[in-house]
Amino acid sequence: MGRAFVYVILGGGVAAGYAALEFSKRGVSPGELCIISDEPVAPYERPALSKGYLLPGAPARLPSFHTCVGTHEERLTPKWYKEHGIELVLGTRVKSADVRRKTLLTATGETISYKILIIATGARALRLEEFGVNGSDAENVCYLRDIADANRIVDVMKSCPEGNAVVIGGGYVGMECAASLVINKINVSMVFPEEHCMARLFTPKIASYYEDYYNGKGIKFVKGTILSSFEFDSDGKVTAVILTDGTRLDANMVIVGIGIRPNTSLFEGQLTLEKGGIKVNGLMQTSNSSVYAVGDVAAFPVKLFGETRRLEHVDSARKSARHAVAVILNPEETGEFDYLPFFYSRIFSLSWQFYGDNAGEVVHYGDFLGTKFGAYWVSKGQLVGSFLEGGSKEEYEAIARATRQKSTVENLTELEEQGLGFALAI
Ligand code: FAD
Ligand code: NDP
Repeated sequence: MGRAFVYVILGGGVAAGYAALEFSKRGVSPGELCIISDEPVAPYERPALSKGYLLPGAPARLPSFHTCVGTHEERLTPKWYKEHGIELVLGTRVKSADVRRKTLLTATGETISYKILIIATGARALRLEEFGVNGSDAENVCYLRDIADANRIVDVMKSCPEGNAVVIGGGYVGMECAASLVINKINVSMVFPEEHCMARLFTPKIASYYEDYYNGKGIKFVKGTILSSFEFDSDGKVTAVILTDGTRLDANMVIVGIGIRPNTSLFEGQLTLEKGGIKVNGLMQTSNSSVYAVGDVAAFPVKLFGETRRLEHVDSARKSARHAVAVILNPEETGEFDYLPFFYSRIFSLSWQFYGDNAGEVVHYGDFLGTKFGAYWVSKGQLVGSFLEGGSKEEYEAIARATRQKSTVENLTELEEQGLGFALAI
């Protein structure tokens, strides 16, 4: 049993949805393109899962957040794919790939062949067992990567109104889920190994603003320690979390957000890997010229920094996917991907954006007691990274522009005094 396509996108997440839109804009004939996904639904905007999806009241539900509503473009419902002759093979896991023969074998035993493959397999959540702690299968221990995970969080929250949640991990999932839990009137303790939240991006000063804000919402932080074990009741539900420093926290539910691993396993030994992902060149092409990789799974050259990076953010997934399709369909007109890294989060009434790289010396600016503040990172006399909380559209555009241009910084004290004015003047 088998089917053949000109183009196959493996994975049905954010990158796949944006690639499909780009294929349709640039012109693909009915029957040429197929998307294979082990999720049962058409591609959707994954960021909704830790934000709108978890809200009480009128939570976001499909079909409202199928791609590409995140960039205010068309919403690609299953009907859209049908009308455009794009085959959606959903609920189907690819279990092996042969890049030499250009075939994929699904778990249902079907062989799907391609001329060009785009790998968009994203990543999976790291599990506690990988750190030597058992208990992930308990019904009130939750992860968050897909809709099934989000539904589980919603069900578990409903089963323990005004109960206690322990959030493991102080990264993006931890911070955004803690906010959603509090909005659902659940008491939250956050546990993580670092000295402050969002340790890979935030400076201690930035982190302390958010931690104070979270404290004000009743969220407690237990820092510098990690989970050691769980206590269970006779039904196998977790009732308490024991930390390595001996602390015991009562828990009606646990959310774990301790990082991800890119889904590369189908291609190990067949394609070159780097930084935990599939290595691509500036055209998003892997070490096999018929195979492209985009989104969380791709390690690509970030021209601006002269370095290969793997980025785990939605803007990079959207743009890298579009770029790969542009290269495939309009090779003469498409150069190398020239991407400015962009991360953001929205929590409670807060909202921040970050552009570039958090390397070099840091200069903070603005009102850390108020609602608008930020930071610049300066390396070798050039602006390489910019963070802003509470900015307007124009202000975010200004910090992005100044970072993209690697604006010259002559004096750090002057930069501090100029603050946002520095970027706005460029
Ligand atoms: P994914 O969207 O993960 O899609 C991968 C797809 O491949 C999935 O459908 C998966 O099921 C499928 N797949 C994998 N292996 C196989 C296989 N063998 N066979 C078939 N199908 C397979 N980023 C931001 O910048 N801002 C945010 O606010 C933000 N919020 C987020 C909130 C949550 C809860 C999560 C989990 C992530 C968030 N991100 C955010 C990150 C962003 O969603 C990812 O960077 C983005 O989804 C990556 O897109 P992708 O297409 O590479 O991978
Ligand atoms: P992150 O990498 O953001 O954070 C993981 C956190 O867990 C870090 O603080 C990490 O510490 C900590 N940690 C690691 N191991 C342990 C442990 N054993 N016990 C306790 N804490 C531990 O990953 P997330 O899981 O938060 O997010 C998953 C993915 O989802 C990421 O790709 C992220 O980009 C994406 N996402 C993005 C959002 C956004 O951009 N707004 C929102 C939600 C998700 P250490 O640094 O020391 O390893």
